[in-house]
Amino acid sequence: MQTVTEWWVYSYKECVISFTVMNRAVLIILCLMSYSCNNFGQAPETNQEKQASTMSKSEIITKTESEWKAQLTPEQFNILREKGTERPFTGKYYKTNDQGVYSCAACGNELFTSDMKFDSECGWPSFDREILGNKIKTQVDTSHGMIRTEIMCARCGGHLGHLFDDGPTETGKRYCVNSLSLNFIKKK
Ligand SMILES: [Zn+2]
Repeated sequence: MQTVTEWWVYSYKECVISFTVMNRAVLIILCLMSYSCNNFGQAPETNQEKQASTMSKSEIITKTESEWKAQLTPEQFNILREKGTERPFTGKYYKTNDQGVYSCAACGNELFTSDMKFDSECGWPSFDREILGNKIKTQVDTSHGMIRTEIMCARCGGHLGHLFDDGPTETGKRYCVNSLSLNFIKKK
């Protein structure tokens, strides 16, 4: 026969177990709710990204090389249209740490923000990601006996630099870009 004390202890244990089970149930429900909310929250963003990722044909700029020659400086023309490379450690944005946006020097297509830039030892401005919206296109570059990924402005086709998979940040990417391919607009 249970004494009153034994009954009390038994009831207390039951109570603790019930409480623990209930707590777990509440936690699981909260987790599920949070997951659903996040999913609902993310859905429109993903759609926006999809919409932004397609550059319409009307946005793409096509000019003759002589038109580009008239618009760009000889140095810019060499890099952007003839796929040249500026000498390392010489570009005007290599050491820039100001807040702002980097756009294509030929057409103004916004490509990177200063938050995406990191200090690189390679000698060219380096970014770990690009502004969303497929603003940059890539192609395999087999010049100079190397296999590299060339990056170009998706709007005007201007050569920007190369993309490597050895970036030091969590993206693992290194967009190595010529300063001459960029225009920097400082945030006010
Ligand atoms: Zn461009």
